Amino acid sequence: MTPVTVRVPAKVNLQLSVGPPRGDGYHDLITVFHAVSLFDEVTVRPADRTSVRVTGEGAGSVPSGRANLAVRAAIALATVAFPRQSKPAVHIGIRKRIPVSAGLAGGSADAAATLVACNELWRAGLSQPELRGVAARVGSDVPFALLGGTAIGQGRGELLTPALTTGTYHWVLAFSAGALSTPEVYAKCDTLRAAKTMNVTPAAGGAGHAGLAAAQPAPVAEPALSTDLMVALRSGDPAAVGPLLSNDLQPAAVSLRPELRRTLAAGRELGALGAIVSGSGPTCAFLAGDAARARELAVFLTGAGVCRGVVRVTGPAAGAAVTAPVPG
Ligand code: ATP
Repeated sequence: MTPVTVRVPAKVNLQLSVGPPRGDGYHDLITVFHAVSLFDEVTVRPADRTSVRVTGEGAGSVPSGRANLAVRAAIALATVAFPRQSKPAVHIGIRKRIPVSAGLAGGSADAAATLVACNELWRAGLSQPELRGVAARVGSDVPFALLGGTAIGQGRGELLTPALTTGTYHWVLAFSAGALSTPEVYAKCDTLRAAKTMNVTPAAGGAGHAGLAAAQPAPVAEPALSTDLMVALRSGDPAAVGPLLSNDLQPAAVSLRPELRRTLAAGRELGALGAIVSGSGPTCAFLAGDAARARELAVFLTGAGVCRGVVRVTGPAAGAAVTAPVPG
C-alpha cells in the first residue's frame, strides 16, 4: 500500500459567541468557522502498531501516543470501519505549519487529515457524513477541518451548516511567543462574566435589609448568529466584514495575555479592517482590504515588534484533501 498524504487548513473564527457553561462542562456555541491557507500535512503508511512522528512548527510541544489527536482519529476510524475484523494500524507523519495551542485548531486539523488519509489507505469507504460523525467524537473542531470553507458551527461547534460567501479574504495572522490553553481561556471567560454581571438582588424581607442582599450572577444570554455578518460575507466586501468580527473569548485571552491588547491595537492603527483574537488565542487575525494591503500590514506588524512572527493567508480554504507530498 502506498502512503497517503493529506493537506489540511487552520481555521479562524469570524464570530465566536459563547453561551453559559453546560452540565457536561462544555459551552453551547454559535460560531462562524473560516478555513485559511495555512496547512499541516499528514502522511499515513501501514505499520504493525499505530504511532506518530511530528516535525515542524512547535513539534516539541505536540504529544506522542494516544494523547495526539491524530492517533485518536486513526483508532476511532479503525473501530468504526472494521468493527468485527482485526484493526489496521498506521504510522502517522505530521508536518506542522499551524502553531500549537494558538487558537487555530491545528490538533483538530491533524485529526481530520488522519481520518481522510486512513479512509483512503484502508479503502474503508466511509462517506463524508460518516467521516464527520467519527470526527465529532474525536473533537469539536474536527468536523470543520474536514469540511473547510466557511461554515456556521453550533452545539460545541461540531454541528455545521456551510455559509455562503463571495470572494477571497486576505488575512495577516500574528503569532504570539507563548501558547494559551483552551480550557483555561473558557474558565477565565466564565470568571470574567460572573464578576461583570454580578448584581445585587434584594434579600427576603424587602428593601430594608439591603445589608443582607445576596449577590447573584445575571444569566448569560444564549448565543445567536450575527445576521449582519452573514449578509456582509455574502457581499464579499472586507470593509463590511471587518467591523463585524466578534469573539466572546477575546476579553479572557487578553486578560491572560495582556500584551495581545498592543498587538490588536497596532494592527488596527496600521490599517486592518478588522482585528480579532482567533478562537481561544493567542494568535491575532487581521483582515486586510486586498493582497497588497495584507503584504503592507504584514511588513508593518513585523516592524512594530508586537508579535513573534506573521504569516499572510487567504480564506476560505478547502478542507482536508488528499495531495501529493511536498518534498523536503
Ligand atoms: P483547541 O483546538 O483546543 O482550541 P488550539 O487550536 O488552541 O486548541 P491545538 O494546536 O489544536 O490548539 O492544540 C490544543 C492541544 O492539543 C494542545 O495541548 C496540544 O498539545 C494537543 N494536541 C494533541 N494532538 C495534537 C496535534 N496533532 N497537533 C497539535 N496539538 C495537539
